[in-house]
Amino acid sequence: MIPYGRQSISENDIAAVVEVLRSDFLTQGPVVEQFEARVLSATTANYAVAMNSATSALHVACLALGLGPGDWLWTSPITFVASANCALYCGASVDFVDIDPRTYNMCPLRLAEKLALAKQQNCLPKVIVPVHLAGQSCDMQAIHQLAQQYGCKVIEDASHAIGASYLDQPVGNCRFSDITVFSFHPVKIITTAEGGLATTNDAELATRMAEFRTHGITRDPKRMTKIPDGPWYYQQIALGLNYRMTELQAALGCSQMNRLSEFVDNRQAIAARYNDALTDLPLLMPEQLAGTYSSYHLYIIRLQADKSPIGHKELFELLRQRGIGVNLHYIPVHLQPYYLDLGFKENMFPNAEQYYKEAISIPVYHGMTGEQQEQVIGVLHELLSK
Ligand SMILES: *Cc1c(COP(=O)(O)O)cnc(C)c1O
Repeated sequence: MIPYGRQSISENDIAAVVEVLRSDFLTQGPVVEQFEARVLSATTANYAVAMNSATSALHVACLALGLGPGDWLWTSPITFVASANCALYCGASVDFVDIDPRTYNMCPLRLAEKLALAKQQNCLPKVIVPVHLAGQSCDMQAIHQLAQQYGCKVIEDASHAIGASYLDQPVGNCRFSDITVFSFHPVKIITTAEGGLATTNDAELATRMAEFRTHGITRDPKRMTKIPDGPWYYQQIALGLNYRMTELQAALGCSQMNRLSEFVDNRQAIAARYNDALTDLPLLMPEQLAGTYSSYHLYIIRLQADKSPIGHKELFELLRQRGIGVNLHYIPVHLQPYYLDLGFKENMFPNAEQYYKEAISIPVYHGMTGEQQEQVIGVLHELLSK
């Protein structure tokens, strides 16, 4: 089976992890700080807080922004469930903004309409979480402008998008957001096995996120709310968690960062070949907006059912039968049973639901051979040209 995505681990990556095993620190030591510095130099943001997953980073980002009961967080329905769950962890409520049918990212026009309505009804969201689906940045300029206008905070879910850029600047620089979150799960662009990281340009947010990462504890006398008893003293000033990244994960991350641009360039080349080779089939290709450079975590095709000899589910099944490990990103979050139980219904976000009936993620990863890609292209032609 050719998978839809997989990690690329080099001998240098392995050596970097083994070296940490022989060192004094196994968790939250100097290598975590080195990894944070590596991500800062790639993104040009001011502060980075590494954690054990992007889910943790989203949770901590919401806590640092003060999201809590009575507040709303809005995100895209076409995302992994974690982008929405982070609000529920904080006791806040979730709602969704429908997608742009061209890019499958949160639609700024829908966002503008929904914000205007929410203002009238006095239920504006505290936090908006645009998700850079497949590695293409959302229209952050428009989203930022709306967030400013209505007084909302913005967390970019850039789980797919390390190495991507927007208006010639790296995703994660937080030019149009308060916080950006990355994931280093093995299918993502670079991996730490499990891992995530939040960037920000706001020193106070960075400090708060670092505190929430470690139980809400501070060792900085300036942050303490009670006079220190002595040099051993630390204070718990908030209810935090244990979301620390290990030194092993960070070592793998530092080593992987050496190949970030190689990974992204390679994914861009694979995408370019697909763009060329699939044009005469009844498929929509992922449209790229001007000013975006995608990291191509995913390559998503959309079946044009009215022009196709076979249906969506049949195409999906036949591809799997033929050894092409396709996937579907994502089942609209509001249609998950847990969210239906919260009161969401079908037809609430029609663009997302239409997308769900047509989308398939086909293989793209560093290390995919030309031969493998031609196999994917060949099978698609065989199944779809009639
Ligand atoms: C993978 C992913 C996450 C969660 O990442 P983890 O590191 O596995 O917690 C969140 N949001 C999106 C869009 C993702 O793809």
